[in-house]
Amino acid sequence: MSLHVQKQWIITPSRLPSVIRRCPKCGMKTEFKNSRKFRVNANGRLIDVWLIYRCSKCETSWNMTVWERAEAGRLDEEEYKGFLSNDPVLIEKYGNDQALFARNKAETMDERSEYSIEERDTPFPGSLEYHMEVHIKIPAGFSLRVDAILVRQLGVSRNKVKTWCEKGLVFNHGQLLSPKTRAKDGMMLQIKKEVLTCPTGDSIIQIK
Ligand SMILES: [Zn+2]
Repeated sequence: MSLHVQKQWIITPSRLPSVIRRCPKCGMKTEFKNSRKFRVNANGRLIDVWLIYRCSKCETSWNMTVWERAEAGRLDEEEYKGFLSNDPVLIEKYGNDQALFARNKAETMDERSEYSIEERDTPFPGSLEYHMEVHIKIPAGFSLRVDAILVRQLGVSRNKVKTWCEKGLVFNHGQLLSPKTRAKDGMMLQIKKEVLTCPTGDSIIQIK
């Protein structure tokens, strides 16, 4: 029997969402792609930060506001340096932030985001109570439902995951989980053992 350890799933978006908006130069709605560049404007102690998008047809830019007239002290210094150097971690963080798109009234292109999941072992032993315990690592702002992750990683149907949740077999750090929950960085998904002994949903004869 293989050693039962907790796993880690590292979720990485493979492309950043585009914004659909009317391009003034093209005169119609076009796809504005994330340019992977910030623009920073410091005016005295007030700082503006934008994430730049460009029309895929004519390169016209659209600036998505990340910070608007923020007092210099409100910005984290490391993050400020990251804005100036177009840090890829920050580009992914803000380029996937649904709340930020909403604040900017930006319509994003595809609901269904593409992403990859890398599985790693952790040094932590798993509890015998659970079939699996997985630490989730996901960029802040990247919105993905827990059931979608389980469907993809475990090769089961969405209905199956729903049934597990209804049976009270799926947890996050010991708290019952709904299948519609959005994955958050630092979650620990746990699936109780019944799933393993009864993968097809067949009834088990109970010994009285
Ligand atoms: Zn254009």
